[in-house]
Amino acid sequence: ETLDKGLEKSKSTFFSKLGKAVAGKSKVDDQVLDDLEEVLVTSDVGVKTTIKIIERIENRVSKDKYLGTDELNHILREEIAALLSETNTGEATDFVLPKDKKPYVLMVVGVNGVGKTTTIGKLAYQFKKKGFKVVLGAADTFRAAAIDQLQVWADRVDVPIVKQEMGSDPASVAYDTLQSAVSQDADIIIIDTAGRLHNKINLMNELTKVKRVMQKVIPDAPHDVLLVLDGSTGQNAFEQAKQFTAATEVTSLAVTKLDGTAKGGVVIGISDQFKVPVKYIGVGEGIEDLQVFNKYEFVDSFFK
Ligand code: GDP
Repeated sequence: ETLDKGLEKSKSTFFSKLGKAVAGKSKVDDQVLDDLEEVLVTSDVGVKTTIKIIERIENRVSKDKYLGTDELNHILREEIAALLSETNTGEATDFVLPKDKKPYVLMVVGVNGVGKTTTIGKLAYQFKKKGFKVVLGAADTFRAAAIDQLQVWADRVDVPIVKQEMGSDPASVAYDTLQSAVSQDADIIIIDTAGRLHNKINLMNELTKVKRVMQKVIPDAPHDVLLVLDGSTGQNAFEQAKQFTAATEVTSLAVTKLDGTAKGGVVIGISDQFKVPVKYIGVGEGIEDLQVFNKYEFVDSFFK
């Protein structure tokens, strides 16, 4: 129900446009395929992934074959879900803490403004609600505001935060955070990092250093590198995904602000093109507005 509400805007445009492209159509002709293609591209699915989806549909149904709308909807649904499955996108369930990975280190990357801090706050809230002991690390030290904002979330969720003054070495903050978390017997550590895309080499060096220093405390850290992308920014989100995946090994994605965009298709394109699963989606500014991404709910909401 929250998913429906959160994705209202996408639903009323992208999703219903998809539905409309096939509604009332009884055969898969060039017109239907062109309409679908246009809806996908204008909804930020991206050209490459759009072509792939269209090809999959063409491979499944013979051209000009008569089909009911329901059947066409069904095929579209299945093909999009299958595409998402290739990267395990939307297959995540609730977080389970692996026994041998305590404390679990979640490193969060992404540029300023995409909703990184908010996503960390929402995650901390969810983890804490499930009974996990969470510690935050403010290793995005470039802007004072980033540290202050994370402190606000730490207070709101009531979890400890490790921070230093602005301009301090991110790796040093990360190191302190891991040490502190280990000594507190914490379950999950969330490290905020790299809020700026200066140049690729700097970004890579900074993230590599943070990882290397964390490994002095916890040898297999980080266990997850979560890239936060703003789903309402289309091409920018694609570009950021490209830069961050080139700079470090990104293991999962959170796509934010899907409540404020008509372009929910970005989830499909990004997970397909970067081969990284979308695990979470942000559907509002509130503390509860972060969802474990479920591809079946997502795809089903296209056609409601
Ligand atoms: P950061 O600079 O990446 O840390 O970004 P913030 O976490 O400070 O978020 C920037 C703005 O986006 C804030 O006003 C947030 O409330 C807002 N925001 C974050 N996530 C979402 C979301 O899923 N939906 C909406 N509508 N707003 C969001």
